[in-house]
Amino acid sequence: MGEFKITVLKGDGIGPEIVDSALRVLDKVQELFGVSFEREEALIGGIAIDTTGDPLPEDTLKRCKDSQAVLLGAVGGYKWDNLPTDKRPEKGLLRIRKELDLYANLRPAKVWEPLIHSSPLKDEVVKGTDMLVVRELTSGIYYGEPRGIFEEEGKRVGVNTMRYTEDEIRRVVRKGFEIASKRRKKLTSVDKSNVLEVSGLWREVVEEEKKNFPDVELEHLYVDNCAMQIVRRPSTFDVIVTGNIFGDILSDEAGVVVGSLGMLPSASVGEKYALYEPVHGSAPDIAGKGIANPIATILSLSMMLKFSFGMDEASELIDKAIERTLEEGYRTPDIYSEGTKKVGTKEMTDRIIKNMEG
Ligand code: NAD
Repeated sequence: MGEFKITVLKGDGIGPEIVDSALRVLDKVQELFGVSFEREEALIGGIAIDTTGDPLPEDTLKRCKDSQAVLLGAVGGYKWDNLPTDKRPEKGLLRIRKELDLYANLRPAKVWEPLIHSSPLKDEVVKGTDMLVVRELTSGIYYGEPRGIFEEEGKRVGVNTMRYTEDEIRRVVRKGFEIASKRRKKLTSVDKSNVLEVSGLWREVVEEEKKNFPDVELEHLYVDNCAMQIVRRPSTFDVIVTGNIFGDILSDEAGVVVGSLGMLPSASVGEKYALYEPVHGSAPDIAGKGIANPIATILSLSMMLKFSFGMDEASELIDKAIERTLEEGYRTPDIYSEGTKKVGTKEMTDRIIKNMEG
């Protein structure tokens, strides 16, 4: 019986409801695969502010550093909306990513056949789409110095700096190649090397790393072209690797192309730690009503099993169970359409767990 350790951060709003669903799925994985996960709960976000005055208490950080992976719900809510920016729940999220040095953000965007009509694109364009955007998360223009608003000759100037060291590029690019080599073996590197020197270096490092992955097909695209191709031919992408700001935009674009927010998982990984969370927020408008879609969080758990624990089979089993549940017509209200069966968080989770049994 293997023994793994994870930290569970339920957070605010629908966070506790959707994380409880994912933990029930984890119970089923334990039962089916003979492994055991020790789970430690800790506070983050609004609930941490109310309890300790800090959106990311020291104790939480310590527990996260003491475990192999972190599963997070969501943070934030109306109650904390008027606090100053650096005291808000979302600050806890930014700090935890930084503190754990989670430099690669993985955002899969896959179209679920039974939900294909919720894509804004034509069915025949989006059919078969299954891509994953790897975004650099801890450097680039969001962090580069100098930054600020300065005065020059009596006029204000706004300044940000896009800066990457070759090591920062290499580690995220390598992650992209590694993930591509375990999928359909195609990597698209996105930059703006026709205009930006920093992108020129990015492209050089990508070419150097390519030598270590001879079986992965490599394509370079400029970011403006990539933005167009994601809507024109989304199904031709496998893994996309790119810098912080380009990845921020392209991962949202890819998410919209495949449909609902309630279906999008994510992972943020570093050398030592990894954090898994749904892309959506804490949905305070539906919190406590038992109608939140738990699938994005269950898919985040599935990513955790695959990327942090090498449990590819368990991960596939979960994804297939979700697909089958959707094929059977079960829908939470956010993905409901006429002719399907509307269910709440608990029943959706029950159905998925039942479908894991075969
Ligand atoms: P949101 O993602 O919470 O909600 C947007 C809309 O989508 C809402 O109508 C909500 O009901 C719906 N929705 C989201 N997830 C759903 C789910 N799983 N099932 C069913 N419906 C779902 O975004 P928002 O309303 O802009 O933000 C709400 C709060 O969440 C804010 O405090 C914001 O700062 C925070 N937030 C947190 C994160 C995070 O924790 N990673 C991300 C984004 C926003």
